[in-house]
Amino acid sequence: MEMRPEDILVPTPAGVCCKRGGFHIDPTRPVARALITHAHSDHARAGHGAVLATQETLDLMRLRYGENFAGTTQAVRYGESVTLDRATITFHPAGHVLGSAQIAVAADGLRVVASGDYKNVGDPTCAPFELVPCDVFITEATFALPVFRHGDADSEISKLLHSVALFPERAHLVGAYSLGKAQRVIALLRQAGYQAPIYLHGAMEKITYYYASRGVALGELHPVRGAGKAELAGTITLCPPSALKEVWTRRFPEPLTAFASGWMRVRARARQYGVELPLVISDHADWNGLTATIAATGAEEIWVTHGQEDALVHWCGTRGLKARPLDIVGYGDEDEGANAGDDGADP
Ligand SMILES: [Zn+2]
Ligand SMILES: [Zn+2]
Repeated sequence: MEMRPEDILVPTPAGVCCKRGGFHIDPTRPVARALITHAHSDHARAGHGAVLATQETLDLMRLRYGENFAGTTQAVRYGESVTLDRATITFHPAGHVLGSAQIAVAADGLRVVASGDYKNVGDPTCAPFELVPCDVFITEATFALPVFRHGDADSEISKLLHSVALFPERAHLVGAYSLGKAQRVIALLRQAGYQAPIYLHGAMEKITYYYASRGVALGELHPVRGAGKAELAGTITLCPPSALKEVWTRRFPEPLTAFASGWMRVRARARQYGVELPLVISDHADWNGLTATIAATGAEEIWVTHGQEDALVHWCGTRGLKARPLDIVGYGDEDEGANAGDDGADP
């Protein structure tokens, strides 16, 4: 009998389930065995029996949830094949944040790829997105509308550096999600030649130092905690987006607020945060990135989750691809998901 994709993976309210492999991918509820694409809190939750993920994802989960975040853990390297019951799984870089992976599940000659969150543009803080040919591709849809074109992150960093040069007496506060975006902004500043110490909000410290320990070049970092007001003039500080509106900003001289997010393409979002300097920098593929990636996988069937499913499902139809939305509740709680304002504060 011929295999159907649903014989390999089936969407359930708890997330995508592989019955023949005995596991779920990014489950939203506690399960016996979970494969985790990356450490953002909507994908990586505490309380599973066994967790398989990249070493970085396991480390980041441990940093956020503590030692006992899972019963047992198993680190999987990119490209390594692991057999789980009657399925074979491999992890491939997703280009989203440090340790992020697409998970390919194969059985009886059919391959389904669950890509988690991904972007197909360069990022100095993580391994580049790998194209994995497959029969069924499960894609996110965070920015799946033709209006979303993220443009070039380097030119956004230039805007920030220009502002710092223009206002040397002001402290620049950059709101960025604490896992991934903040470290990418710092690494891009270093690539652009910015060598001064960069300051960190307390909520950024653990994860940022972890990135540095994994060899990501972030230069000299200082905690804001303990720094005097005068010392902060003309400096750059990374903080969670929610901190931009808090009394915490009063410790800075003439704070100038920026926000690094794909949502900054939408003026109303920038206004909502009272952001002076919106920076369009996203860790998710934009419309062109999503559609180009879907086409390049060669998949004839596309499952869409996590955002603006309808437009992408429609686009697939115009290309003769079979497509369906996966209605899984609970994704998009962190980074640039449904709640752009949520900084994904640690539980
Ligand atoms: Zn994510
Ligand atoms: Zn996500």
